[in-house]
Amino acid sequence: MAKTVDHLSDEQIALVRESSLLVGRTLAEVARHLRPGATTEELDKVAEEHIRDHGGEPAFKGYNGFPASLCTSVNDQVVHGIPNDVPLPDGCIVSVDCGVRMNGFYGDSAYTFAVGEVDERVQRLMQVTYECLLLGIEHAVDGERTGDIGFAIQRHAESHRYGVVRELVGHGVGRELHVAPEVPNYGRRGHGVKLKEGMVIAIEPMINMGGRDVRQLEDGWTIITHDASPSAHFEHTVAVRTGKAEVLSTFGHIEDVLRERNMWHVGSNAEVAPR
Ligand code: MG
Ligand code: MG
Repeated sequence: MAKTVDHLSDEQIALVRESSLLVGRTLAEVARHLRPGATTEELDKVAEEHIRDHGGEPAFKGYNGFPASLCTSVNDQVVHGIPNDVPLPDGCIVSVDCGVRMNGFYGDSAYTFAVGEVDERVQRLMQVTYECLLLGIEHAVDGERTGDIGFAIQRHAESHRYGVVRELVGHGVGRELHVAPEVPNYGRRGHGVKLKEGMVIAIEPMINMGGRDVRQLEDGWTIITHDASPSAHFEHTVAVRTGKAEVLSTFGHIEDVLRERNMWHVGSNAEVAPR
């Protein structure tokens, strides 16, 4: 990540929001097609068509040679899973990460779905990871630092004895998909890069039910937990503002679909620990 994120104007941030909203609507299309027996390749096709039909380009396809529009990471896969023709088993979880480029600006967001009946302990992991994202976003405020975001995420995850992945981090986003600063999901209060009004960052906790260690599969992409424990991932694209962060991506469309289809999802029973 050589380049550093621009401080975007309100007009430019509006374009990042448009790209990010298309990501949210694309993930909602994925939600509509998600069921035990579906393949991640099918979901990838749905996503790519939806993105192109709405004037965007899939940001991940061809990025450093990545072959698909979605990253689909099942169970102990943390991130960067490559869509394939293996049917999703009942009871698995799948983290779906999606990026869109439109009008010269990128949006990036990820959501972890429960496929069929998912173990309560795994539901808890998903819920806490989602809460970690919300807690991190509270610190995407002018004058705070990347370490304040990381600290909030790490504290909540570790209070549940979950492992916080260190090797992969959030990032600046805007005219490029990945730029500095790195936004780690761990850190120390008051440390790291100072956040300024108009910076746009992707905050994306990756939380393991077991230890924090991960490794990469021989496909050169897929990251899995070292101890084979399940891992969850939620991501929003967020504008740093004065006083309160502005979330540019949305899970609203996804949640509408999941509610309509009676599928379990995070958020409905949120209990974020006191700060
Ligand atoms: Mg992403
Ligand atoms: Mg990202």
